[in-house]
Amino acid sequence: MALIVQKYGGSSVADPEKIKHVAERVIKTKREGNDVVVVVSAMGKTTDRLIELAKQVTPVPSEREMDRLLSTGEHQTIALLSMAIHHQNEKAISLSGAQIGLITDDSHTKAKIKEIQGKELLLNLCREGNVVVVAGFQGVTEQKAVATLGRGGSDSTAVALAAVLNAKECEIYSDVDGIYSADPRVAPKARKWNYIGYDEMLSMAKLGSKVLYLRSVALAKRYNVTIHSRSTFSENEGTRVMAENRIKEEGKMEEALVRGVTHDLNVAKMTIVGIPDKPGIAARIFETVAKKNVNLNLVIQSISGNKEVTDISFTFPRTDLPKIVEPMKELTSEIGAQDLIYDADYAAVSIVGLGIVDTPGVTAKMFRCLANENVNIAMIGTSDLTITCVVKEDNVKKAVAALHKEFDLDQ
Ligand code: ASP
Ligand code: MG
Repeated sequence: MALIVQKYGGSSVADPEKIKHVAERVIKTKREGNDVVVVVSAMGKTTDRLIELAKQVTPVPSEREMDRLLSTGEHQTIALLSMAIHHQNEKAISLSGAQIGLITDDSHTKAKIKEIQGKELLLNLCREGNVVVVAGFQGVTEQKAVATLGRGGSDSTAVALAAVLNAKECEIYSDVDGIYSADPRVAPKARKWNYIGYDEMLSMAKLGSKVLYLRSVALAKRYNVTIHSRSTFSENEGTRVMAENRIKEEGKMEEALVRGVTHDLNVAKMTIVGIPDKPGIAARIFETVAKKNVNLNLVIQSISGNKEVTDISFTFPRTDLPKIVEPMKELTSEIGAQDLIYDADYAAVSIVGLGIVDTPGVTAKMFRCLANENVNIAMIGTSDLTITCVVKEDNVKKAVAALHKEFDLDQ
């Protein structure tokens, strides 16, 4: 008998009808002869509403109490889903994060999982014929305070449980039916993959794919958990995310070099012009940015040649721009740089694939393709599996579509 962990996101349990539908799916899996542990998120936009509610009470809620509040969203879902399963004549029992012994560190609202102590309890409940319904996104600290795992944290709960319980796989249900070679809303000819490797998936999530949360994929890679990303609203098989070498063993490797074209619209670009070219200045710039808790994506320093000054450009989430404009203006004058330029209407377009950076011609092909579309490249970055071009936001759609075609991904 196999044990399967299933996770249903907020949109899959948004109302009573949808919860009943999820109950049917869970029961079907159970009646096929599997043990089933289900992890659920809060219904629909509940978490957003709870955050709003807290803000109406105080602009700066205590993080400990915020976690208490947010954890209640998932409590509603586990109780309702268990009732819906009972109504269809199967045994089910709901458990909170605390009840499964999910212990976290102390960083409230973005806690990390330390361990799950309730393995035996969970297995016993399964053995007794229960579907076990677990509240995602939450645990308790060593001091027994409720802590949440950060937005989207239910995916991490599910993957962690699959690891601890040695599950056959971790099915993550949402309203999309798998991982595509590009966002189908932007590239209508995007294809769905049957399999994709952990590292490719990590790169895609980092560079804009929103189907799976980065953190849960990293966790899956670490414990070799197969994630099956699929739709709550269709019976189709979705995409399995697993180790690259296992994909080969199964003989299912799809012969594409480039696996995905991703885009990220949340991009701003800042350039400090005419910086005195001497040690310590870059450190001061990035300390200023780090103090505001802003993550940089690409950083480029131009060669100063025989001039005495240099320029530094970087990109970061557009939503963080207001946090750093004033501090960077101050710094610009403090270090005697000539000017500060910033612009919020950029986007990043990337191609992702194992080995593409080491394959001659791929980079040139990408740039030529963008040139043919008359798309100007503002910045370029590469990593082991990715090539990223920063372009103006209004060029994104045509850039993604053209690259998708150029790399033979159109179906
Ligand atoms: N309910 C939480 C959120 O909306 C956790 C989750 O959905 O995974 O972020
Ligand atoms: Mg959610």
